[in-house]
Amino acid sequence: MHDADCIFCKIVKGEIPCARLYEDDAVLAFLDIAPVAPGHALLIPKAHHADLFALPPVLGTALTAAASRVGRAVMAAAGATGLNLQMNNGPSAGQVVFHAHLHLIPRQAGDGLALWPGRPYADPAAMAAMAEAVRQAFESLK
Ligand code: AMP
Ligand code: ZN
Repeated sequence: MHDADCIFCKIVKGEIPCARLYEDDAVLAFLDIAPVAPGHALLIPKAHHADLFALPPVLGTALTAAASRVGRAVMAAAGATGLNLQMNNGPSAGQVVFHAHLHLIPRQAGDGLALWPGRPYADPAAMAAMAEAVRQAFESLK
């Protein structure tokens, strides 16, 4: 259930302190120690699972249910009007702590935080080919 070397497991076990916001049997929320905005929170399953792909679906449900409630509380406390949910999965996606977690980032108009830039596909055929490749990959996962 816990990984002895995992910093978030140590937080769950109380071996490392955190600014706790919410917990229930399945999940724990606490403030990120290096926030991109005041109120930036992390929401984790208490059990150790490395990332989204290792997470049992029932814990994904518990995380999203808590994200709604904790997210509203974070927004209210931070005086925010919006909230970004982010989950980094894998080093290339920016994951540094390999215990699955959601970032809850309160937002307000003009706060200076930028979303990822979007670029259109080269042409409609490239978009259709990517959609077909994903559908085929999905089938091969079953
Ligand atoms: P990620 O890049 O998605 O793996 O994000 C890991 C996050 O964990 C970063 O935003 C860190 O600031 C945060 N973090 C690391 N150690 C702690 C800690 N002890 N308490 C609170 N947040 C932490
Ligand atoms: Zn862990």
